[in-house]
Amino acid sequence: MSDIDDLKKEKHQKRQQKIKEGIDAKVAKATKEQGIFMVITGNGKGKSTAGFGTVLRTVGHDQTAGVIQFVKGKWPCGERNVLEKLGVKFHVMGTGFTWNTQDKELDTEAAQAAWQQAKLMLQDESLDLVLLDEITYMVSYGYIDCEEVISAIKNRPPMQHIIITGRACHRSLLEIADTISEVKPTRHAFENGVKARIGFDY
Ligand code: ATP
Ligand code: MG
Repeated sequence: MSDIDDLKKEKHQKRQQKIKEGIDAKVAKATKEQGIFMVITGNGKGKSTAGFGTVLRTVGHDQTAGVIQFVKGKWPCGERNVLEKLGVKFHVMGTGFTWNTQDKELDTEAAQAAWQQAKLMLQDESLDLVLLDEITYMVSYGYIDCEEVISAIKNRPPMQHIIITGRACHRSLLEIADTISEVKPTRHAFENGVKARIGFDY
């Protein structure tokens, strides 16, 4: 090896060492053990799948999880077919939900029924993780009271993790989140006329 190669190698090692020291210092500081409240929002694809990925991770460590889906069960949910067999409790919002704001009463009823199930999960100490998929819409439509959601999140068992997904998350929910990821829609096949595919999109 030439002297220049040696110098490059040394420089690389020094830089890596510095990065490692920085990371080690941060790891040493992160000592708190608590349940994490995470929001996955934004207009890009990957919010619900990230939430379900975490449910899978939980189950993989023999921990327990519950899922509430605040969407009308129009399509079969691939994740549900697997996770329910593994003991994950599921509740899917009733078919009463229409997305039709002209029938606000019926929509509110369906959202409220699902929220009652969610509240039970948020009080259940045996659940390590609760996924509230697409709940953001219910809050922004005013079908579920934001303050009530905040209160349930704050008063949950201290070690319980919560993930909420959905676009346009209410600011008050973002304010109390420990982790927020915003998925950015750089490109989506749908815009090029590709229809939603079973096994990939649902
Ligand atoms: P996924 O369930 O695939 O993780 P998501 O939860 O991020 O998606 P949602 O807003 O819940 O996205 O939308 C659900 C459906 O809409 C999925 O079938 C997804 O492929 C599709 N979708 C998500 N983002 C976009 C987009 N930017 N344009 C068109 N369709 C989208
Ligand atoms: Mg989703």
